[in-house]
Amino acid sequence: MKTARKNWIQGTRLGIQLIFLIAVIYGFNTKTVSDWMLPAILLAGVFFCGWVCPLGAAQDWIAWLGRKLRLPRVRIPRNLQRYFQLSRYILYLLLTLEISFALLKGPYNFSRMLHGELLTAATGIILLFLISSLFIDRPFCNYFCTGGARQGLWSVLRVLSIRKDTTRCGGCGQCSKVCPMNIDVAHTDFVRHPNCIGCFTCISTCKKQALSYGIHSKLKKHN
Ligand code: SF4
Ligand code: SF4
Repeated sequence: MKTARKNWIQGTRLGIQLIFLIAVIYGFNTKTVSDWMLPAILLAGVFFCGWVCPLGAAQDWIAWLGRKLRLPRVRIPRNLQRYFQLSRYILYLLLTLEISFALLKGPYNFSRMLHGELLTAATGIILLFLISSLFIDRPFCNYFCTGGARQGLWSVLRVLSIRKDTTRCGGCGQCSKVCPMNIDVAHTDFVRHPNCIGCFTCISTCKKQALSYGIHSKLKKHN
């Protein structure tokens, strides 16, 4: 039952990621989706990064490969992560102020890159992020993506998010360990973090089924 839940959620996500990757290869511009999603983010949080973005998906798949190859994984310690994770918001601010870096304008540029509109340098930089994903979870999303930063800032007001039933939680910390965005899920009972990409990896991983997705106030708390 627990394995079926994990397979169902992550299998669906993998299918949607693959569909969008194929669509991008055939010329679909995912920016149209990210723009359309902005109002939905206020309700449900950021799903573009976890379910749609081909660059995000590619980082997930390469991270999976890195784990299969038993390569060492680098995880920024939480006390440093709180500062490091500000980088994408600082880049977003610089972009908003039109101190522009064309290569850092967001994951939708991946589509343009595939169609040869960006410089060769962009390909090299993207490849560097993909290779880094063998060792670090979503390095581009965590620290450089200004599109994700923009959506994340909207998402702090969201109504629905990952929530924890503290009566079920055993405190094992697995949800924090598997979060690709290095969010300390184990020590919060409702994820409002702007970096959450709605991937549901934490929900899929929790053996106690303590995590679900919904409205915080609808869940009884135990403290
Ligand atoms: S994985 Fe589940 S049981 Fe373990 S700390 Fe997270 S919510 Fe609690
Ligand atoms: S908190 Fe859960 S849903 Fe959000 S990014 Fe981390 S693993 Fe994914």
